[in-house]
Amino acid sequence: MKLRAHNLLCIQGFRGKGYDDAFVENMTRVVEALRKNPEQQVTVIAEPDDLCAACPNLKGDAGCELHGKGTEKGIVSQDEDVARRIGVSIRTAMSWTELEARVRQSIAPDDLDDICGRCPWLPLGYCKEGLAVPRRGKSDTPGEFGRAVD
Ligand code: SF4
Repeated sequence: MKLRAHNLLCIQGFRGKGYDDAFVENMTRVVEALRKNPEQQVTVIAEPDDLCAACPNLKGDAGCELHGKGTEKGIVSQDEDVARRIGVSIRTAMSWTELEARVRQSIAPDDLDDICGRCPWLPLGYCKEGLAVPRRGKSDTPGEFGRAVD
């Protein structure tokens, strides 16, 4: 599996909501796979990944256009920032367990204010709340996925 670095954070706050049905279906599949097999190797990248593949904001070679043309450049910077914060070089592979532990040890909920820029999900608070919930063990990772919300 390949995940862009900032999406390691997005997964923490996933509540079965997203940009459209196809995106949600794909992200649910990815997050379920990580939950069922936390030892799965994940390669950290700074380009469109297995989640972006079903995103309506992905525009071919231009990459992410969530905020219009040129968005991808800022998202790459976001990926590089997250990778630096968790001490992982881009294109490094390690288990989901290890990656999530690094995220949890290195990034506090309020750090998202600096990391996530204009992401429309930030004001909803899901991602900060997801990061704030302690993980209970391997069998629970990603621990909050699928819980009832609202
Ligand atoms: S605020 Fe946006 S970029 Fe940040 S973790 Fe949440 S979904 Fe990802």
